[in-house]
Order: sequence, then C-alpha cells, then structure tokens
Amino acid sequence: MTRTLEPAATPADIIVVSPTSGDTVATLPSATTAEVDAAIARARGAQREWWGMTSDARSKVLWRWSELLDEHAEELATLDARCTGKVIRDGLSEVRTAARYARYWAGQTDKLFGDQLNDVPGRLSYTLREPLGVFGVIIPWNAPCLGSVSRTLPPLGCGNAVIVKPSEFSPLSALRNAELAREAGMPEHLYQVVVGAGDIGAHLAAHPGVDGISFTGSVETGRKVNIAAAATFKRTTLELGGKSPVIVFPDADLDEAALGVLIGILMNAGQICAANSRLLVHESVAEEFTAKLLERAQRVEVGDPLDPRTQVGPVVCRRQYDKVMDFIASAEAEGATIAVGGGRPLHLSEDRGLFIAPTIITNVRPDMRVSREEVFGPVLGVSTFATEEEAIELANDSEFGLSSYVWTTDGARLHRMAERIESGVVHGNTYLVMDVQLPFGGFKNSGVSNAFGNEAIEACTQVKRVTVRTGAGPLPSPWPGV
Ligand code: NAD
Repeated sequence: MTRTLEPAATPADIIVVSPTSGDTVATLPSATTAEVDAAIARARGAQREWWGMTSDARSKVLWRWSELLDEHAEELATLDARCTGKVIRDGLSEVRTAARYARYWAGQTDKLFGDQLNDVPGRLSYTLREPLGVFGVIIPWNAPCLGSVSRTLPPLGCGNAVIVKPSEFSPLSALRNAELAREAGMPEHLYQVVVGAGDIGAHLAAHPGVDGISFTGSVETGRKVNIAAAATFKRTTLELGGKSPVIVFPDADLDEAALGVLIGILMNAGQICAANSRLLVHESVAEEFTAKLLERAQRVEVGDPLDPRTQVGPVVCRRQYDKVMDFIASAEAEGATIAVGGGRPLHLSEDRGLFIAPTIITNVRPDMRVSREEVFGPVLGVSTFATEEEAIELANDSEFGLSSYVWTTDGARLHRMAERIESGVVHGNTYLVMDVQLPFGGFKNSGVSNAFGNEAIEACTQVKRVTVRTGAGPLPSPWPGV
C-alpha cells in the first residue's frame, strides 16, 4: 500500500491519495494529448446528435440525470470523501444540490430564445440562439462531484458537448457522473472525462477544436487558461479565487454572526473560494466578538470525514497542509497572534491525516500575507475598524472580489455597503448562499463571466442573426446602371 501523501509519482499515472489515511484510493492512467484530441473529435458528433434532439427530449435526459444523482448520492459523496477528505454530510448535501441543478437545467432546454427584430418593411430579421459546440470544463478538487455537474449543466443545457478535466486529486466522482449521464440517456461521448494533471487542462484550453472553456480554479491557473484560450478566441467563463471580507457592525446579533463567520470559514476545512477569510469587526465589539468565536471554534468536531458527526475534515493534500501551516507561521512572524488552533488538533496529534485545527488569528494587519493571499484552509484573520468608511476601504483593499458578508441590523447600512463593496456577491446576515438560479461570479481577479443563473446562457450560446428580404419589389440597389 502506498504511504505517500503526495499525488502522481510518475507523470503517466494519476495516484489519488486519501488525505485521511495516506493510503492510495485509486491509480489511473493519465490521458495522453492524442486521447484528448480524439475525445474532442467524438464530442463534435455527439453535440450534433444532442442539438438535433427535441428540447423536450433533452429536458427528460437532464431530469433523469438528476434522479440518478439523487439515487447515487451516498456513493458519489463517499468517492469525494475518500479523495479529498470532504465530510460526508457536506458531500451528500452537494450531491443533492447537483441534482437540483440538473432539475433546473431540465427546465431551461426549451427556453433558449432568439428575438424577432423590427427592421424595415420588406425585410425580416431574427436571431437564433445556438450552442457553441464543444466545451472544455476544467474543475478543482474542492467540490468535485458538484463541480462536474454544476459546471457542465450550463453548456449541456444549452446544447453543447462537454469534456471534463477534473482535478488530479479527485477524478472519481466525475468519472462516475459520466456513466450516470450516459445511463440518463445522453448521447455517447456527449459527456466525456479526461483524467490528468495541469498539462491535460492546458491542452484542452489551447485546443482549436474546443469552442468554450469553463474553468474553476486559482487565479494563477485561470490566467494561464485565459491566455491559452485567447489564441483561438474561445468563450471563457472563469471562476477563480477569493479573499472574502466579513464585516461585523456593533449592532449585529453577535451570537448569530459568530456562528455564521465560523461556518463560513470552516466549511470544507476552509477550502471554499468564497470562504469568510478576512474578518473586519468594529473595534467597540472586537473583544466580545472574538471571545465568542474562540469559544465556539473549540467546540467544532474535527476528524474522520466518513464519520457522520464530523464537521471539519482534513485538508486535501500535503502541499495544501504545508501551505496553510506556512501562512499561519508567516502571520505570527509578522506580529499577529494565534488565538486558537495553529496546528494539529490535540486529539489528532498522532493521526496520519492532514488535519488542521480551526485557527483564529488576531491582530492581523491588512498588509500581512494572511490578509492578502488566499489561504484555502481553516484559518480566519481578524482585524478591526472604527468607521463604516474604513470598513469599506479595508474590504475593497484586495486583488479579489468574489464574495462578501455584512452583519448588521441596520437595513439602510446593509444596502449602502452592498452598493460600495467590490465583489460579485454581497451577503447580508448570512454565510455563503449559492443556488443554481442565483448569479455567482467574481469581480476583479476573482473571475470573468458567470456559470450560474441566466447569465450562464450568454456564456454557453452564440447569437446568429438571420435577415431575409421578404418584399415583393426589385432588389434595392445603390448602383444605378449596373
Ligand atoms: P488549480 O488552479 O490549481 O487547478 C484547477 C484545475 O486546473 C485542476 O483541474 C488542474 O489540474 C487544472 N490545471 C492546472 N494547471 C493548468 C493549466 N496550465 N491549464 C489548464 N488547467 C490547469 O486550483 P485548485 O487548487 O484545484 O482549486 C483551488 C482554487 O479554486 C482556489 O483558488 C479556489 O478559490 C478556486 N475555486 C473557485 C471557485 C469559484 O467559483 N470562483 C470555486 C471553487 C474553487
């Protein structure tokens, strides 16, 4: 049995390692670039077949897929738990969410409308909304099953074919989803999965046979994908990283806010793009609020992701573990205080799993690394502010602009903050809310375009104008005598 906590030992094989035990979960051959080329060619034919079906038939397939997702929720959630350490209750909830997304898109297949344009008498113009063709869907490891459904549904629902490149850390649920998609009635090769590391993603992003890219991942990789895709003018949807501020005003319900902030930073061991990673709390309640956070943080159940009582599991891999620990060390070296956590939970000190205790760092300044870069771990940095104006300045002082959270009972203030915070989503008095019908896209370096809501239709279709001369008279000509 392999006892390494690192991924692929040889470039040809993808070795999936459990972050909980260190054991090998699966060894899969990486796709070759020739295999990716062949998959793209097959996808083209499948896409024609899919788009040639009635919208009702496509709808029925997507609906059936949603039923199969629900039926296989336990199995899919277990695959994600084994590959990534995602706790089973979160994994189950994500598969149920994936099924809900499929039901939503089942209802969209007959709502891809064009327009009839009032042009001039004797001329008729209208638009056709058409699929782009073949989509490359490159996803990360933090919500593998949900990602392989939620990011493929907009292209599929709009009549495209997809080639999914799951993360090398978590390819199993996407592979299983491809089987379920086929069982649901999708044409063969409409939903294909290519297993591999970044080089396979890069090949897909640059490939001239791919028409659209839906990428979810880090800013650094997103930039490379965008550059590669630009060479062939591909449509891109980029869902990237975040460093989301959470602002707590003194009039907030502090107990609720403390619970919300903790869930917001510890869900999925902090490995969420929209994690509540930067807490800005009003100086008048900072001490009281921090005490509430610390007390609750110590009650969070960290442990085996397959145990239904567990609330926070391990981080995904050794590299991520070391990265998070390095952030904690850097914050301390720069003068911040580790108020709770900062290493392995005591009860798991001898465990082989990659567990990190819920960590709250106080006295954090905006210039510290832990304030500026995405940690992607269970680490909350706490800073204070004195005025609303300062809170806005601090919140916006970031290259990211994905999500934000405001806790206050003053309704007018909430809307004022929503107008001025630079992020794609602003939440009031809640932790992260996501749903298929709600747009979720990043401002600034956090992304381009939107994979949710009706905005996703724009990203996955192209509009064709048709103009026909209907007038009975002669062809109007600007060239007399010709
Ligand atoms: P990552 O950028 O390292 O990898 C994402 C995917 O890209 C993987 O499948 C990877 O194999 C592939 N890849 C790597 N190099 C590539 C290249 N040169 N060309 C094409 N593909 C390449 O990200 P990660 O570590 O897997 O995931 C964590 C990141 O994802 C975080 O930054 C997080 O914020 C972000 N994320 C964003 C959202 C969102 O909706 N905005 C959602 C989830 C995760």
